[in-house]
Amino acid sequence: MTERTRVAIVGAGPAGLLLAHLLDRAGISSIVLDSRTREEIETTVRAGILEQNTVEILRETGASDRVDTVGSRHDGIELRFDGAGHRIDFAESVGRGVWLYPQHEVLKDLIAVRLAAGQDLRFSTPVAHVSDIESDRPRVVATGQDGRRVEIEADFVVGADGSRSVVREAVTGSHGGFFREYPFAWFGVLCEAPPSAHELIYSNSPDGFALISQRSPEVQRMYFQCDPAQDPDVFSERQLWDMLQARVPGATLHEGPIFQRDVLRFRSFVAHRLLKGRAAIVGDAAHTVPPTGAKGMNLAVADVVVLSRALEQLLQGGSAELLAQFEDTALARIWKAQHFSWWMTSMLHRTADASEFDARRQLAELRTVTESAAGRAYLAEAYTGWPLPA
Ligand SMILES: Cc1cc2nc3c(=O)[nH]c(=O)nc-3n(C[C@H](O)[C@H](O)[C@H](O)COP(=O)(O)OP(=O)(O)OC[C@H]3O[C@@H](n4cnc5c(N)ncnc54)[C@H](O)[C@@H]3O)c2cc1C
Repeated sequence: MTERTRVAIVGAGPAGLLLAHLLDRAGISSIVLDSRTREEIETTVRAGILEQNTVEILRETGASDRVDTVGSRHDGIELRFDGAGHRIDFAESVGRGVWLYPQHEVLKDLIAVRLAAGQDLRFSTPVAHVSDIESDRPRVVATGQDGRRVEIEADFVVGADGSRSVVREAVTGSHGGFFREYPFAWFGVLCEAPPSAHELIYSNSPDGFALISQRSPEVQRMYFQCDPAQDPDVFSERQLWDMLQARVPGATLHEGPIFQRDVLRFRSFVAHRLLKGRAAIVGDAAHTVPPTGAKGMNLAVADVVVLSRALEQLLQGGSAELLAQFEDTALARIWKAQHFSWWMTSMLHRTADASEFDARRQLAELRTVTESAAGRAYLAEAYTGWPLPA
């Protein structure tokens, strides 16, 4: 039997869940389908930095009050190079900040709010494909928890199904998108230790890049630059701490047991199209950025805010005017974020073939940014997030 809803959303990550929440507030029903279990979604550690816009949306729409009680506001970051730290003061430069509040906590909040509102949110329901997206009755075909075929007919289908999206192909066809691979990856560790700093440290060193980040008073997240083919299990804990410490010269890290390690590959991708007929893609399904600028989840939120307004106008007001603008509006921000993420990555990482000229030029770039009020303001403005379209 074919089920019916107004918007069928593939993926219960930050993009899909927030979209369902915003649509519900506008009186538009939706069904959200995700291949993973609720527990898997609520325990996967990913993004940690929320832009001020993202926090305001969560707060103002009643999606999360814990962002203010469990999360913490950061008014700056440290750029560390040549053995010394240089603070970029966001509050002083642009009067804005970011929040350290892990993505899985945002997901817990959104899932709780969606279920409390009695919304149709289905876990362990992988979507196989979408069809009829150029008609006004697009369809989603999935396999339910009980193994039975699920078929949903909707007014609109949204692919919020991450970087391996099944909806993307239906939207972009064989054109795919613009793609860039980087010659390095991040080796990430989670450890039980007190924070080594109050704010994030982005460090450029002769041994390569490191990011010293926090998760809670007891758990810390740290990364260092590595080869994309690196096997995460070959290093002892002692070797990992020595490599991390060597990449933040002049700072002292607080060590503790490492309980998770992974290698995170770097890719930049932007889909050629975000919209076709009655289907759109948002979040990581539409783009991926290297994590250096902390933009991935925040871009997903911005896409969803723009799309939710367009769907509200289409489905409640009968006008497709905002939907026709969706791609251009979303892509303008996506490409700015691509540039910022590429710029932070290039300024802070060392490539294997970097010459002494490259290393000295990179230090000069870091000095140009940190010694200039305009340089600090550019970084602060981009990192804390450009305003969302009115
Ligand atoms: C280690 C790491 C650190 C990061 N750090 C940051 C950071 O500091 N700041 C930041 O802003 N971003 C960061 N990011 C990026 C951020 O996590 C992503 O950009 C964000 O998760 C994108 O959200 P999304 O909802 O678009 O996709 P996802 O979170 O990937 O969600 C997609 C969902 O779709 C589901 N799905 C996929 N295929 C199907 C299918 N066929 N059927 C049904 N369901 C399906 C998946 O199970 C998943 O739940 C980081 C990412 C990683 C991996």
